[in-house]
Amino acid sequence: MNPEFIKTICPYCGTGCGLIIKVEDGVAVATYPDREHPVSRGSLCIKGWSAHEFINHPDRLTDPLLRKGDTFQKIPWDEAIPMAALKLRETAAKYGGDAIGGLSSAKCTNEENYLFQKLIRMAFKTNNVDHCARLCHAPTTVAMVQALGSGAMTNSISDLAGAECIFVIGSNAAESHPIIMGEIYKAADKGATIIAVDPRETAVTRNAKIHLRINPGTDIPLLCGMMRHIIDEGLHNENFIRARMEGFEDLNEFLHLWPVKRAAEECGINEEIIRNVAEIYAKVKESAIIYCMGITQHACGTANVLAICDLAMLCGHVGTEHSGIYPLRGQNNVQGACDMGALPNVYPGYQSVSDSEIQNKFQNAWGDTLSNKPGLTVTEIIGLAGKDIRAAYIMAENPALSDPDTNHVLESLKAFDFLIVQDIFLTETAKFAHLVFPSSCFAEKSGTFTNTERRFQLLRKTVAPPGNAKEDFEILCLLGNALGLDFSYKNPSEVMDEIASLAPAYGGISFDRLEREGLQWPCPDLEHPGTRYLHKDRFTRGKGLFVVPEHTPPKELPDEDYPYYLSTGRMFAHYHTGTMTRRSSFLNREVEEAYAEINPEDAALLDVKDGEKIKITTRRGSIITNARITKRVSKGCIFAPFHFAEARANMLTNPALDPRSKIPEFKVCAADVRKESQDG
Ligand code: SF4
Repeated sequence: MNPEFIKTICPYCGTGCGLIIKVEDGVAVATYPDREHPVSRGSLCIKGWSAHEFINHPDRLTDPLLRKGDTFQKIPWDEAIPMAALKLRETAAKYGGDAIGGLSSAKCTNEENYLFQKLIRMAFKTNNVDHCARLCHAPTTVAMVQALGSGAMTNSISDLAGAECIFVIGSNAAESHPIIMGEIYKAADKGATIIAVDPRETAVTRNAKIHLRINPGTDIPLLCGMMRHIIDEGLHNENFIRARMEGFEDLNEFLHLWPVKRAAEECGINEEIIRNVAEIYAKVKESAIIYCMGITQHACGTANVLAICDLAMLCGHVGTEHSGIYPLRGQNNVQGACDMGALPNVYPGYQSVSDSEIQNKFQNAWGDTLSNKPGLTVTEIIGLAGKDIRAAYIMAENPALSDPDTNHVLESLKAFDFLIVQDIFLTETAKFAHLVFPSSCFAEKSGTFTNTERRFQLLRKTVAPPGNAKEDFEILCLLGNALGLDFSYKNPSEVMDEIASLAPAYGGISFDRLEREGLQWPCPDLEHPGTRYLHKDRFTRGKGLFVVPEHTPPKELPDEDYPYYLSTGRMFAHYHTGTMTRRSSFLNREVEEAYAEINPEDAALLDVKDGEKIKITTRRGSIITNARITKRVSKGCIFAPFHFAEARANMLTNPALDPRSKIPEFKVCAADVRKESQDG
């Protein structure tokens, strides 16, 4: 039989590159780049090239599993679904619907996320639904909605190539979003100035014209010092501010607290460099800011993003073709999961659950009463396990590795009266479940993903799920019907039509249109071509708002007992909790084992050689990992990727929360490091 070549979308990062899967005799055997794709245009990173590898892995789940003591027993779907519905119903009857929590997934499609939040909201009359955006870009949503009215990337990825200055802060795009890094290189080739702000040395900082190696957690002092200098030099865009902004006086007043001298001292860099980058950013016509989790994963994450918005709006660098603010989304569909209302305070399209008009709209459409009380977040649902939350339904999320202070998370996962986990492998989280639903990966289903530039894209089914595993869409419909809801959807396209009817920004999206092209929201009607960049003549909220970004230092700083800064993050060969990439022989050949970066001077003091074992300890726990000696980290700093189950970096991280977005402070905590003796 001739092989088939089927176009679909990469399952890894939020760039959303186009893939072509080669299928032979019903098996996905290779991945190729899609030359016609509007974002990736024939390129893929190393993860994209190996996207087919985990699909056929022997560890794939093939049947529903029921816990029997310490082991699992295979059961048929016609036992598993009624049992799940009964247990959830009994829990809700005994403790109330607010005792149920649901974690939806940035790896699942828009339609699956829509059905998941609808199921939790309708069946249990609770808004306790959230997903891992809480752990990466919750501050983006909170801050950008407040300042601009829309919590999404303002421009398109391809717009970057036309920018004259690109200011990259808290993003290692070269490893976590390599295809977007390609656009940065293109801009640099055309003469753009690349400025990188990062306490670490990375491929981004090495390719930047200027690298500001600031102290960890001092982004606000830097951004405020830059803004103070821009105003003092009269480089702010007065016409833009007068016509389109509010709150300038308050911001200007506040910035008197941040003269460049004080900012430089706080950041540990030279005053002149702050003045220089402020002038470069402000003076050119089209400047773009890229940021990622180096900005958001702090206890002051929302204030960090507000400071970025302030800087961009101060210079009028929003609402034009090649300027803008680029939050780079981590997972493939984290934008879509947020858009679809897998959040505790909003329905699809960011419509507030507390607004009575919106509540009525959804009650009328779904034919049932709904709660107007905002629900709990990921960290609250896990933290209240066995107390306020008695049962949980987790779809394709892995909090056992992804959440901070994982020792505490593991205790919580044991504490649920009933836990259902739906996933493609028996993940570290699924091992705690009472009932496991085997589901399908990106290549085994149809639906849509929305990439980081707001682009809805069609995912095409290329192969069948293994054994008796089912598509998440089908599992949600079966469970919804078993819970007494009318989830008689024939296909994901029908779900998309329902989404379009309820969320105005997606009103013009349909599978028919997506067959021909991706569409960027807002796309309010079927004639609308989609929106390449936002806030052109008017901000989504009307006028843009300057908000004072109060600086709070990291909650834990090095001291006598824990003298190092520890930071965690991603690296190029692996992705998130490693569930998929660590089952790729190709990617494992690149990086097989956990490691932590340590500066040569620190290594010498500890008498540690490259590759030797070190023990990293924080107030939450310890891990033993391999030392990678490198000047990429400054003296006194350690960096550990979080993808490795055998050395869980998140066992060490600080669960202290940003009060507004409730993101934990993954990026900075205090640690001790010792050489691990050979005998342990
Ligand atoms: Fe996939 Fe992201 Fe790599 Fe593109 S850049 S191939 S979307 S992992």
